[in-house]
Order: sequence, then structure tokens, then C-alpha cells
Amino acid sequence: MLRISKADYDLIRWEAERSYPHECCGVILGNLVDDHRVVTLTVPCENMRRDTPASRYSINPEQVIAAVKLARRRGESIIGFYHSHPDHPARYSATDLEEAHWFDSSYLITSVEHGRATATNSYVLLGAEDQKQFQPEEIDIFAYRQTLPIAL
Ligand SMILES: [Zn+2]
Repeated sequence: MLRISKADYDLIRWEAERSYPHECCGVILGNLVDDHRVVTLTVPCENMRRDTPASRYSINPEQVIAAVKLARRRGESIIGFYHSHPDHPARYSATDLEEAHWFDSSYLITSVEHGRATATNSYVLLGAEDQKQFQPEEIDIFAYRQTLPIAL
């Protein structure tokens, strides 16, 4: 399960609308608590795809490295990624699976129809590189940011 604050959830969906008709993308930081990924911070990133930004995304690798450093400093880790699907369903594509490499992480997809965010779904990347799959996971939205124990 992915646990996310209403604030971070809204930010991801706002990013999806703001980037329309292009895909937005970003990194999600957090902690693993009782086998649930708990979001502590959402980090919007630049979509590097200049050729097909409306149907593909590529997170600037420098921003991923910066996010890893930021997570370390906060005693957290990267627990997922998000992107949007302008005028397409919030379901992962074959390309999304192919380009996903962070196992046991959440991949959030928000559908944006005519500039409005509709469904947001999350998938966990399971398996190994030669035998990977996305499994749908539940998103639990909590109303306020909570103080969470930091895993040492
Ligand atoms: Zn996609």
C-alpha cells in the first residue's frame, strides 16, 4: 500500500494538470513502515523528452541523483515515481514497464483529460529485470502530514 498525504497527492495531480498537454514526472521520497510505502515528500522533476513529451517522460538523471542525496539527508529513500498520461487512461504502458527499474517502488500514473486530472493509480514494480511486472496497489490518502518515526 502507498500512504500519501492529501497535500502530496494534490501536488502530484496539480503537476499533471499544469504540465498538460505534456507528461509531468517526479520522484517520491518516503519511508517503509510496516511494509507500506509512506510518502514524506514529492519532488517535481523536469521531463527531458523533447521529441514526444506528450506521450513519454524521462526524468532528468541529475534530478534523480539530487533526490537521492536529499532523501539520505532526511533519513529517507526514494520510494516511487510519478508521471501523467495526457488524454490516456491511468494505466501503465508497455514502455512504462520497460523503462521502470526501481524494484519495490511505487509508480503513480495520473490521467489528465482535457487538462483536468481524473484517475490516479499506483503500481508496484515487482520481480527482477528479466521478469518484471507491475502490480496495482492501494493508495491511502491521509488528511494531514504526520510525524513519522525515521528508520535508522
Ligand atoms: Zn506512462
